[in-house]
Amino acid sequence: QVETLKAKLLEQAQEISRLRSELGGTDAEKHRDLLAAENERLRQEMKVCEGELRELRRQQQAPCRDCAHLQENTELQEQLSQLQRESEETRAKLAELDLEVQQKTNRLAEVELRLKDSLAERAEEEERLSRRLRDSQETIASLKSQPQQIKYIIKTVEVESAKAKQALCESQSRNQYLQEQVGMQRQVLKEMEQQLQSSQKTVAQLRAQIMLYEAELERAHGQMLEEMQAMEEEKNRAIEEAFSRAQVEMKAVHENLAGVRTNLLTLQPALRTLTHDYNSLKRQVRDFPLLLQEALRSARAEISQAIEEVNSTNRELLRKYRRELQLRKKCHNELVRLKGNIRVFGRVRPITKEDGEGPEAANAVTFDADDDAVLHLLHKGKQVSFELDKVFPPQASQEEVFQEVQALVTSCIDGYNVCIFAYGQTGAGKTYTMEGTAANPGINQRALQLLFSEVRGKAADWDYAISVSAAEIYNEALRDLLGKEPQEKLEIKLCPDGSGQLYVPGLTEFRVQSVEDINKVFEFGHVNRATECTNLNEHSSRSHALLIVTVRGLDRSTGLRTTGKLNLVDLAGSERVGRSGAEGSRLREAQHINKSLSALGDVIYALRSRQGHVPFRNSKLTYLLQDSLSGDSKTLMMVQVSPAEKNTSETLCSLKFAERVRSVELGPVSRKAELASWPSQEQLEVTEGLWVPFLFPFTPGREGTPAPSGRGHASPSPGQLSGRAASIRRKLQTSG
Ligand code: ADP
Ligand code: MG
Repeated sequence: QVETLKAKLLEQAQEISRLRSELGGTDAEKHRDLLAAENERLRQEMKVCEGELRELRRQQQAPCRDCAHLQENTELQEQLSQLQRESEETRAKLAELDLEVQQKTNRLAEVELRLKDSLAERAEEEERLSRRLRDSQETIASLKSQPQQIKYIIKTVEVESAKAKQALCESQSRNQYLQEQVGMQRQVLKEMEQQLQSSQKTVAQLRAQIMLYEAELERAHGQMLEEMQAMEEEKNRAIEEAFSRAQVEMKAVHENLAGVRTNLLTLQPALRTLTHDYNSLKRQVRDFPLLLQEALRSARAEISQAIEEVNSTNRELLRKYRRELQLRKKCHNELVRLKGNIRVFGRVRPITKEDGEGPEAANAVTFDADDDAVLHLLHKGKQVSFELDKVFPPQASQEEVFQEVQALVTSCIDGYNVCIFAYGQTGAGKTYTMEGTAANPGINQRALQLLFSEVRGKAADWDYAISVSAAEIYNEALRDLLGKEPQEKLEIKLCPDGSGQLYVPGLTEFRVQSVEDINKVFEFGHVNRATECTNLNEHSSRSHALLIVTVRGLDRSTGLRTTGKLNLVDLAGSERVGRSGAEGSRLREAQHINKSLSALGDVIYALRSRQGHVPFRNSKLTYLLQDSLSGDSKTLMMVQVSPAEKNTSETLCSLKFAERVRSVELGPVSRKAELASWPSQEQLEVTEGLWVPFLFPFTPGREGTPAPSGRGHASPSPGQLSGRAASIRRKLQTSG
C-alpha cells in the first residue's frame, strides 16, 4: 500500500510540473502581443486612410466650387464624416477590447500566482509526507526485527515459567502499541490521499478556467478583425462611388457648357429681332389709351342713342298698354253691363238617397232642350215654366258651374266688388255649390285658385295681396268665424274719417297665398262654427255664411292701386216654417231669416230697377255687403232647387223669387208693370200659408251713402283660443 501511495504521489508531482511548464509559456501572452501588434497596424492604416480622404476632399472641392454638384459633394462629405465617425467608434471599441485584454491578462497573472502558491504548499506537504513515510518505514523495519525476539521468549517460556510469562505480557502490550502506531500511520495516509484529491480537483478547475479565457480572447479577436474588415470595405466602396459620380457629373457639366456656348451664339440674332419687336410694341402700347378712348367715345354715343331709342319705344308701348288696359276694362264693363250687373242662375240638384223612394221622390223638374235658361216644374199636376239667365241641370258639374262664374271672379282683380249668393231651401245644394266636397270643391275654393293663378300671370307688372275673412250672420248678429272669440257680436261701423265708408272693427283677415292656406282658413272657419252650436246642419241652415276675399293690387309701372272684394255667401235656408209649429227661438230664427232674405230681395230689386234709394240698412247682411252690391259691383244669385216631387212647393217659391229678381231689369215702365203684378207679403202669406222671402216695397230714407266696408281688421293672438281652433289658427298665422 505504501508503495502504491508513493507511486501516486510521484505521478501527481509530475503532473504539476507539466502544468507549470505549460503555464509558463502561455498562449495568452502570445495573444496579447499579437493583438497589440494588430491594433498598431490598424491604427497606422486608419491614419493613411484619413490622409487619403483629406486629399480626395481637397481635390473634389477645387474644381467644383460653383458647380451644380456642390450638393452631391456635401452629401459625399457627409458620408465621409459618417465614415470617420464610424472609424472613431471602432477605435473606441478597440480601446475597449484592449482594456478587456489587459484585465484578462491581469486575472491570468493572479491565477498563476495562486497556482504557484498552491504548488509550493503541495511541495511542503510532499516533503512532510515523505518525512513521515521515512519514519514509518524505519519503525516498520524495527518492528520487523522484533518478532524473532518474541518467538524466542515464547520458546523460553515453555522452558522458564513466571518470568517468561511476564515478559510475554510486556511483549504483548508492546505489540499492541505498535499495532496502534500502524493504525495511526494508516489514518495519516488516508488524510494525505484526500488532500491530494482536492488539489487535483483545484488543478482541473483552474485548467478549465484558463481554457474559457482563451476561447473568449479568440472570439473577441475574430470579431474585431471582422469589423475592421467590413469598415475597410465600406470606406473603399464609398470613396470609389463618390469618385466615379464626380467624374460623370463633371463630364456632363462640360458637355452642358459646350451646348450653352453654341446656343448663345445662335440666340444673339434672335435677341436682336426680339428687342426690335419689343420696342415697336412699346410704341403701340403708348398709343393704345388714345385709341381706346376714341373707340369708347364712339361706342358710348352709339349705346346712348340705342338706349334713347329703346326708351322711346318703351314709352310708346307703355302708353299703348295703358290704353289697352282701359279698353279692356271698358269692354269688360260693357260685357257685364250687357249681361246685366245682377245675374240670376238656377241650379237643380240630382235626386239623392235622402229624397227617399216612391212618388214623393219622383222628378218634378224638366228642361228645355233648345234654351239653357228655361226650366219647367210640374206642380200639383200643372207645368210652370221659368226663365232665368242660365239653368244648370242636375248633371252639370262643379266645373261647368264655375266656368259661368269665373268672369265675375276675375273682375275682382281689376278692382270690382262681386257678390255671389247661394239661395234656396235647406237641402237644395247651396253648400254643395259654394263649398263642394274635398274631392270636388265648389265656387269658394275654385275662385281662390283662379285668383291665385290670375295674380301669378300678372306678377310681371302687378303686386297682389289676397286676404280672406269669414263671418256668419245668425239672428241678425254678425260673428267673426276666424276670430279668437267667435261668439262675440261684431258691429258694422261708419269710418270715423268722414269718408262715409263702412268697416267691421275686429273682423279677422288672413293673407292667403296657396290652396293649403285656403283649406286651413276653411277648416278653421268650420271648427269655429261647429263649436258654437249643438247641431251644425241645423245651425248652418239657419244662418248666412260669408267668405269675403279681398284682392289688393299695385301696378308697378303706373303706381295704380286697385281693391276688389269677392263676397261668397251661403244663405240660410229659404223654406217657410209651419206657423203652428214655429214658436220660441225657432220662430225668432224664422223671422230673422225672413227679414234678411226679404231685405236682400229688396236691395237687389232696388239695384236692378236702378232706384235712387237702396235699403241696405234693413238687414245686417245687406248693410255689410253694401259696397259690394252698389255702384258698378256685380252680383250673382244662384238659386238652388230640389227636383223631388215632395219639394215642389218650396221649389216653386225659390224659382218665383229667382224670376222676379231677374225680371226687374226691364226699364222703369215695364218694371212698374211687373211690380204691379207682384203679390204683397200679406197676399203671399195668405195664398202660400207661410212667409216668402221676397222683394217687398222698400222702406225709404234709412240708408247711408254706399261705401266700402271691411276696414280695421284685427288678428287675435293664438293664446286666447283653445283646442283645435287655436292650432289651426296658429298654422294659418305662420303660413299667412
Ligand atoms: P243646402 O246647403 O242647401 O242645405 P246641401 O248643399 O247640403 O244643401 O245639399 C244637400 C245634399 O245634396 C248634400 O248631400 C249634397 O251633397 C247633395 N247635393 C246637392 N247638390 C248636389 C249636386 N249638384 N250634385 C250632387 N249632389 C248634390
Ligand atoms: Mg247648407
